Parts: sequence; structure tokens; C-alpha cells
Amino acid sequence: MPVSVQAATAPEWTVCPRCRALVYTRRLERNLLVCPECQYHARLTALERVRQLLDPGSVEPLSFAVGSEDHLRFVDTRPYTDRLHSARLSTGLDEGVLCLRGRIDGHPVVAAVMDFRFLGGSLGAAVGEMITLAAETALADRTPLLLVTASGGARMQEGALSLMQMAKTSQALGRLDEEGILTVSLVTDPTYGGVAASFATLCDVIIAEPRARLGFAGPRVIRQTIRQSLPSGFQEAESLLANGLVDDVVPRAALRPALARLLTFAAPVVPRRRASGAVPVIHDPDRLTDEEPWATVQRARDTARPTTLDYIGYLIDGFQELRGDRCGGDCPAIVGGIGRFDGQPVVVIGHQKGHQPADLIARNFGMATPAGYRKAVRLMRLAAKVGVPVLTLIDTPGAYPGVEAEAGGQAVAIAEALRLMAALPVPIVAAVTGEGGSGGALALAVANQVLMLSGAVYSVISPEGCAAILWDDPAAAPRAASALGLRASDLLRAGIVDGVVPEPEGGAQADPLAAAAALRAAFAAALEDLQPLRPDQLIARRRSRFRRLGAPTQETVIVEGANR
Ligand SMILES: [Zn+2]
Repeated sequence: MPVSVQAATAPEWTVCPRCRALVYTRRLERNLLVCPECQYHARLTALERVRQLLDPGSVEPLSFAVGSEDHLRFVDTRPYTDRLHSARLSTGLDEGVLCLRGRIDGHPVVAAVMDFRFLGGSLGAAVGEMITLAAETALADRTPLLLVTASGGARMQEGALSLMQMAKTSQALGRLDEEGILTVSLVTDPTYGGVAASFATLCDVIIAEPRARLGFAGPRVIRQTIRQSLPSGFQEAESLLANGLVDDVVPRAALRPALARLLTFAAPVVPRRRASGAVPVIHDPDRLTDEEPWATVQRARDTARPTTLDYIGYLIDGFQELRGDRCGGDCPAIVGGIGRFDGQPVVVIGHQKGHQPADLIARNFGMATPAGYRKAVRLMRLAAKVGVPVLTLIDTPGAYPGVEAEAGGQAVAIAEALRLMAALPVPIVAAVTGEGGSGGALALAVANQVLMLSGAVYSVISPEGCAAILWDDPAAAPRAASALGLRASDLLRAGIVDGVVPEPEGGAQADPLAAAAALRAAFAAALEDLQPLRPDQLIARRRSRFRRLGAPTQETVIVEGANR
């Protein structure tokens, strides 16, 4: 296969097709074929892509004995066999996808990289077969699979056999889900039709290059069939991100480190012993010094307290945020992603508020929409698939009470999170760090161990809401706060939380680093207790924990397997 010789043959200057700037070609190449003026990401050949992403010297091509056949003897303006011949000559490739084993920043990966120059990256039987064989190689090697897509869709010249490649590749990815093999897709411009509606969007994590377009029906089809006018940025990566369809938009220069962070998530864990020293978690409610309930509520809402992203910054190494519910939205009031806690991969999810008014507004004051809970559920499923613990951080006044949230199925989204968490086969540790407001808080808190910071509150309803309903007087909020039993000591006594993490003098807001250090020790101790348990034990204990709450006496409830 010939090496790309663009550097030697390209003219000295290149005109950017988007901004028309005249760019020195060597500079363009140094910039990974991204226009330095307008950031236009020019299309790459499969070989250029491999060179940019994989560690030098690590690539071992996977030579599958597969080739396209003209079983329909298809002729349009030219015979299909002629088109295939020309594509092979002009690209130097046998087919429209390049498959290989290699490494990214030292992490092993099996990759399939599509080349748009080869008949528009179209998905024919051979391409479908090669993607499937790459997935099967990833399964056999138990190595993550990376798919780099660039395609106009199914290859018409092979008729319905091309259509069937969507099903074949999708079931290959389904097998990787069953077997816990991480899958990552890198969407490049353009990714359409049968490729978009199969392997490109079935991966655990979907990264897109800036302004890369992805969709099922292309703009021309939409305009011609239903004559709809299309908004600017339609089907481009940035709008896909806002619509919850991709996890992140990553500029070309940042792709290698981003992919390396993701592959770390699937790397084997080197067990690390917890540093000796007292774990600060309090289990005896009498050891807690109580503040007046209404004052506790006010302090728990202090915008100076560390937010979920602040804690993530202290606790999680190599955090890669993952976004989107994959069905139409992304909610900024819930953040989640993957990273390492004390060296071990985890999924971390939490409500996000903010310190300044602008942040608070952008994050909807930590009040999540259905898209937020669906994103959380998606990330928890990923944790279950890969077999890593889930840490959650709870700080919300409640789920967002609005017309769109209701129409979008707020109640359903919360209910599904509750049910999924109860059955998740990996350890879950939750910490209420500020406000634990109602069902919107519980939707992230069905955990094996539920921790609470000493200055946090956790309640069935806000004191103001309770006062308005039961006292018919919002000014009765302080009385309601006393009546609701929402402080850490009250909840520890009731068995609703398992442990309380003491805050530093003056609260978490006075010394965020000390608060984060205490939380780190509490999370580490909880994980140490939970990690020896088998999945069935984790589920049985979690179900038993919640089954007991509110039962007439604790002894009457026996959950099978709970005490194994
Ligand atoms: Zn440009």
C-alpha cells in the first residue's frame, strides 16, 4: 500500500475551501490538515488518519481476505466493476476501510478507519464484512474497538446486500456490549445513512470532529422529499452535541489525548492499597453536633460550597466528560463521565450547580431535565458493561419543574433511573454534598452506600414547598424544615444514609480542599468494602437496603441472597 506522498507532490500553497485563505501547505500539514485561519478540518485519507492517531511503529494491519463482488452486474453511467477498479487505483486501498491493531499512547486498540475517497466511503458487503471482522478481532483480543467513520451510506451498486451490512455490523457491536468490550466511534465529515444508523452511533462513546456532519437522511433528500428548510449548523457536530447525540466535539489536535483517556478506562487496574489512617465517616448520630434545621438548609444552599465539577477536579484523574442522552437532549444540570479514582476506572455522575449567577443559570440551578436522568442511566449502563464502580454526587433543589420536562417524561426518566440503579451489577456509592431535593436527588442515590456531608440536607420536598402545602404559608418554611427531619443526624438515625462525612470548621465552603479530602477517604473506604462482592451480592444488598426502609420491622423482611 503506497504511503501518502502529499507533502512531496502538493503545491506550496493551498486554498482553504471554506474561508479561501491561502495557507502554506507545509503549515497546513503541520496543523494536521486543519486550516489555521478558520479551523476547517479537511478530509483525511484512512492512512493519514492512522498516522495522526496511532503510536508510530505500533500498527499491525489486519489483512482480511475480503473483496467487493459485482453480484448484480450493476451498471449506472459506468459499470460497478469499473468504478471499483478506479477506486482501488486512485486510493491504493483494496476496500473503503483500513483495519488494524495498534496502540494509542501505549493503550492497545483494534481500529477500523473508513476512507471517503473509496466510492464515498460507501458500505458494501466487503466493508461491512471488514468492520465485522474488526469487531470480532476486538472481541477475541479483548481489546477496545475504535471505528473512524466517513461515509455517504449503504453502497447502492450491491443492492439489498449492502442494506444487510447495517444489521450485521450492529449485531457485531451488540456482541461487544454483551462481552464488556469498550467501543468508541470517531465521527468525521461526512457520516450518513446506513453507517450513521448502525456502527457509527452504537458505540459506547461517540466523539466528533468539529463541524463533522452525521445524519440518516442527508440535507438534499430532506429538501427534495418534504421541502423543509434546514437550520444553520444542521447535522453538524456542535448541534449533535446539543441534541445529545454525541459525547464530545474534539478538535483534531486533541483527539489522541482524548482517545487515550477513553482507552485508559478499559485498561486493567493495578490494585492500590488505601493509605492507612482513620476514615472520617461517622456512623453514630449522637456524635454529630446539630445545627438548627433551617440554618442547615440555608448553609447547604450556599453557592460558595464546592460543586460536583469542583469535587471531580479534586477526586478524579483524567476526567473525560460524556454528554447526551442519545435521544434528543443533553442536560447541563447533570454532569457525568469517566476517569480514575485512586488509580481505578470509575464512572462519576452528579448534579451541577455553579458559584456565579451566570453558571447557575447555565446549569439550570442544578435542576435536571429528563435528558439529564437519561444521560445518567446511559452512563450507569456503560459502568455495568465495562464493570467499573459508579460514584454519584447529589446536589439539587429537585428535578426541573417545567412544561417541557413534564412533556419529555420527567417522571418516567426518574423512575427508570431508580429501577436501573437497583439492579446495577457494579458497586455504587452516593454522596449528598449539598441539597438532596426529592425524587430528583434520589434518582442518583440508589446506592450500596449512601453518604452525606454533615452540612448537607436530604428531603422529600423543599421546606418552602412543604410549608405552602401543609401550612398554607410559605413563611412557615423554618417550621417545616424542623418537621421534615432533613439533617444528616436525622437521616443517619432513620437509616436513610449509612454514614456522614464531617465537614471542616465553617462548612465545605470554608475549606473545599479539606471537604474533598474527607470525601475521598469516605469513597475509598466504601469501595474497599464493596469491591470484593460479586455482582449478585452487590445487587442483593442494595435491594435489601432499600427494601427495609419503611417496612414494619427490619426482621420481617428477608431478601434472598442478602446475607451471603
Ligand atoms: Zn480556512
